[in-house]
Amino acid sequence: MTLKPLPILLAFLAALTATVAAVAADTASVEFNNAGVQAYNKGEFEAAIGYFDKAKAGNVDPNVVKRNLCNAHQSLGNELAKKGDYREAVGHAESAATLDPVNPSPLVQAGAYYLRLDELNRAIEKLEKAITVKPGELTAHEMLGYAYYRDNDLSSARAQWDYVLEMDPKRPELKERYDKAFREQSVENDFGRYKSRHFQVSYPPEIPAALRTQVIGILDRAFIDIGREFGGVYPPSPIYVILYDAKQFGEATKTADYVGALYDGKIRAPLADGAGNWLPIDEIRRRLTHEYVHVVVKHITGDEPPWWVNEGLAETLSRTLDQDRIKTLQKLYREGAPLSLKGLETTRIGKLDKDAVGLAYAQAHATVDLLWTRYGRAKMITLLQSVGKGQKMDDALREIYRKTYPGIEKDVATTYG
Ligand SMILES: [Zn+2]
Repeated sequence: MTLKPLPILLAFLAALTATVAAVAADTASVEFNNAGVQAYNKGEFEAAIGYFDKAKAGNVDPNVVKRNLCNAHQSLGNELAKKGDYREAVGHAESAATLDPVNPSPLVQAGAYYLRLDELNRAIEKLEKAITVKPGELTAHEMLGYAYYRDNDLSSARAQWDYVLEMDPKRPELKERYDKAFREQSVENDFGRYKSRHFQVSYPPEIPAALRTQVIGILDRAFIDIGREFGGVYPPSPIYVILYDAKQFGEATKTADYVGALYDGKIRAPLADGAGNWLPIDEIRRRLTHEYVHVVVKHITGDEPPWWVNEGLAETLSRTLDQDRIKTLQKLYREGAPLSLKGLETTRIGKLDKDAVGLAYAQAHATVDLLWTRYGRAKMITLLQSVGKGQKMDDALREIYRKTYPGIEKDVATTYG
């Protein structure tokens, strides 16, 4: 399953205001600058950048043109980020930061986009620099705390957040993040750490070394296998994995006791059951592979796709649609009341009881299995990318699969009914 990762503070960036100044002097550069201002005010940021670049080469107040160019890059970055294109967006934030090195805003912006791209080292570098440029900038401190948290440096994260909450106790959402990090820190305090090529794994000291080695092998294998299933998709390292016993998992995540594992920006999985027995290795493999699929899906989408796509993919690629599940599905489609896909789009797993959760997973599995095997992975990847760029699911399905929701539901029902 997945828990929605706490949102990154893009609201701050949407509030960017630009001051694009016109200059008064009579040269070609001035005309370029003023054409840039006009384009900017019409929201044509790319054109504005072109004009300001030309103005910069000529005889005109370099500070004014640089500031204008900086704003245009930031605004274009902001616009691209809203469409989900963080890779392009971060380039513009970087350009803006180079043009105006004493301005913390483009540094914070670049830091936020690197976080979205899961490039934690770069995010931390930018955000630390923003604080050097302007100490006390609360958004930068808060976001830096979040970057440390993602990087599993919980005590540094708390130090940043302590400071922010001291300055502004009513900071929205921060208290929730803070409490979550504190809860995790108290459970994971004495955990050991192991770093493989792609994963950084934290584990309780009582896990036998042999089991730990097996788990790391499973993860490294998932990296290769699932990456290949998606045609060569490999998220940046390190990917954080935290292993627990059943009690620790419950304490750290506060999820219902039937939850097998989860991904909330970090893979979290118990290795033992409630009675303290180590889980069978095949079960551990299934759960970790399932969660790893979520990592890859998030990397492709940039965000989270609808629940049934995300869970359906995780199921399809981590286990076979076996006889037990086929029987469950036949019963569901012949006698039961399958949920509408639209309903499964908005379902948050916490709202269903255990049996309903099981059926919802089976249904998501059946639906994605059908799309994946019948139409291939390329279409699925396009679907994830389109949804990541903000396209509505109905529209994406129609465009990519030439199907409506009811059409797909009928196909699945025919297969099992
Ligand atoms: Zn899942």
